[in-house]
Order: sequence, then C-alpha cells, then structure tokens
Amino acid sequence: MENEDLRNLPYMLYADKEGQIYDHPYFRMAGFLRSSPSPLKTEDLIPLPEFSKLFFIPDCPPIGLDPSTGAYKTVSEIEVDGVVTKCLAVAAFPEPGLVRSHLPAVDYSPKSYTLPMWAYTAVGFMDGSYWAAGFRIEYNHKWDPKNYDDRELVPAIEKYRKEYGSGPLVEHLINCATVNHCFAAKNLFLKRWEAPLPVSQACNAACLGCLSFQSEGSCEASQDRICFRPSTREIVSLSVTHLNQAPEPIMSFGQGCEGEPLTEYRLIAESIREIRKRTGKGTINLNTNGSLPERVREVANSGLDSIRISMNSARPEFYRAYYRPKNYDFEDVVESIALSKEMGLYTMINYLVFPGITDQEKEIEALMGLIQKTGVNFIHLKNLDIDPQLYLEKMPTDPSPGIGMRRMTAMLKAELPDTKLGYFNQPVR
Ligand code: SF4
Repeated sequence: MENEDLRNLPYMLYADKEGQIYDHPYFRMAGFLRSSPSPLKTEDLIPLPEFSKLFFIPDCPPIGLDPSTGAYKTVSEIEVDGVVTKCLAVAAFPEPGLVRSHLPAVDYSPKSYTLPMWAYTAVGFMDGSYWAAGFRIEYNHKWDPKNYDDRELVPAIEKYRKEYGSGPLVEHLINCATVNHCFAAKNLFLKRWEAPLPVSQACNAACLGCLSFQSEGSCEASQDRICFRPSTREIVSLSVTHLNQAPEPIMSFGQGCEGEPLTEYRLIAESIREIRKRTGKGTINLNTNGSLPERVREVANSGLDSIRISMNSARPEFYRAYYRPKNYDFEDVVESIALSKEMGLYTMINYLVFPGITDQEKEIEALMGLIQKTGVNFIHLKNLDIDPQLYLEKMPTDPSPGIGMRRMTAMLKAELPDTKLGYFNQPVR
C-alpha cells in the first residue's frame, strides 16, 4: 500500500493503566491474522456500531503501523507534554451480526493470565469515530441492542409473574435476563421473537471457550450453568404461552447457561411432543454440539423444526483440539448434520470463526466438502469468543496464510448458492 493509503487508515488506539482510551497521534491501526500483522485495507473497515464494547488488555502493548515506512512497531509508551505513559492495547467486541476480519494487533508476551471470553477485534479511531476490522453478515432488528430497553423489562417481568406465576425455570430466566443480559431471556418476558429453554447440567465436551464452565486456572465462565432439571410441565407451559402469543416465535433448547442439551434428550423429546399437542405455532429449535446422532433422531421425531450444530472447524484435528470431545468424535457431528437434513429439519451450522484459521485454504476446502455432502441450509458465521493467544496455542499448526474472512465469505456465497450465510437463528414456521 502506498504511504498515502496508509495515512488514510484510522489511528491506533491505546489505553493507560486506568483503562482510559486514547488515539495515537501518529501510528495507524493494525490487525492480525492468527499471530502476525496482516495489511488492513480501507474496505476491511466498518464504523463500530453503537452498542459494541471496547476493552484494554492489561500488561500488553499495542502494535501499530508506521505510515511513513509501512513497518509494524510495538508501542510500549508515549510521551505527551513531558509525561510518559505506558501504552496498553485496545480491542473491540462488535455488536451481533458483524464478522471480524482481523484480530487486534497486540504483543501478548508480557501476559500471564487468560483473557475472558470475548471476540477481540482490531479497532482504530478516525474522523471522530471508532472503526472496526470486519463486515456485516446479517442485520436483524430482533437482535439489535437498540430494541432492548431494560426500562421496559423489569415491569414486563412483574407482569409475567402476575399473569403466569413462576417456577424454577422462570426464576432462572429472570436472572439470565437481568444479570447476564441474555436477549433471548429478555424476549420471554417481552413476549416476542426467540426465547430460551436451558435444560442440561452436564456436557460430553470440554470446549476451550465454554461460556458456562471453565476449569481452574483459566478465566471465569461468562455465566453460571443451570443447576437443576426443569420439569416437563414448566417447559411446556412457558413454551406454549410464548409460541401462541409472540410475533415470529422460536423456542430454543441449548443456551449459553447450560451444558449439552442432548444429555437431556428424553426430557426435550417429551416436552416437544406435549408442546405440539397444544400448539402448532412457531419454531422449536435445538442448539447443540451434535455429538449423538441417535439422540438427534429421537428429538427430531418428536416434532423439532430446526437444529443448529456448533463447530469451530471442519477439520477433525482442529475440532478435537477445541471441543475436547468425550466418547464421541467429529464424524458423529457430521452424521448428525446429515441426519438432520435427511429428516427435514432446517439445518444450521454455528460456525465459530477465527481470522487466520477459518480462512485457511484447507479449512475452506473441508467446510465446502462438508456442506456439499450434507446440504446444510444455513451457516452462522459467529466470531469465536476466546483469548486469541490461548486459542492459537491449542490449535494444530498449519502455517498456510489465511486468504481473509471477506474473501472466504465471498467464496462460500459463490460456491454454495443454496446455503444461506448469516448470524441469527431463523424462524421456519
Ligand atoms: S458443548 Fe457447549 S456446554 Fe459443552 S463444553 Fe462446549 S460450549 Fe460448553
């Protein structure tokens, strides 16, 4: 890139030890694919949406781009008016619906802790605005943070309790809505769109980035895992109420605050049969790791409408390194995807993407092969929430360069015209 172009890039951000964020007067923003700088083009940049978050990364200096030389430089400190400030890296967590194209450019070598689970994204500042490295894959007003005003939520919860009473699951979801700020839980009380049905305490995997369970010595889990088994009666009553009254209703088993729902496949199948005896409205969905095909068959036979099966990679060795599966393997997941499609479920993959790995040629090849073999309807391109350094440490080595997340997405669109790309579960009834 010409120096002129480099000067058109946003300025690098840095923070002081209190977390106050500044734009650097000279260095420009840089971005990483895996653990090395990769040129940022202006078309890679998008204004950071309003409800995105900004983080500073303690102990770790940012890496910026020198617009005169095009060289990348670790910027450990800055002197302003004779005051020297230690510079700490800054990253963004974009609103839902955006796919990050670059990781933040950070020197992680001083770090001795594990970052909490967020999708850290490269961010800079220019013309009075923050700019993130990414692109929008789907806009959906039902997941737009602007449409979640908690001043409406609290009275809605009180009204819900008065109208329908309460129970362990409702109380759990009140905590999810008010403490974890789960949009799906808020929707239950706001009587609209997609609502959650967490049911499982156990899991047969040990994902590095599990939101509800993290082992000793790692970072804190993002939310507490449900610690009881809801009753069929409570699941059925709140589902039938929601499916009958909410616009575009979806009831989803498999949430961030639980283990693997297939460990409770009998409870789920029985609940779906009872729900469908009472209403034919809306969509009943299952978010799962897809580890047990025969249990997927049982739940599908009970009246399920759609399924979303998660994976971080279509390469078995990368999958195993992240999911650390117990008594199942990648082939079982592929079998569940194929079976779901055969049984007429709207079949989605929750593809946990990571710039520099997801856009490697071997990964794209493996993904294309999987989609062509199974005929998946929809791919969620979900930014993987994890400490980038931890993920790269644990993944198998493949030094081949990434082609870029935007180019990878364009290839998927061109080669797989029957498979939709997006970010959110889709109502199918
Ligand atoms: S499959 Fe889900 S519950 Fe199980 S370890 Fe992974 S993220 Fe956690």
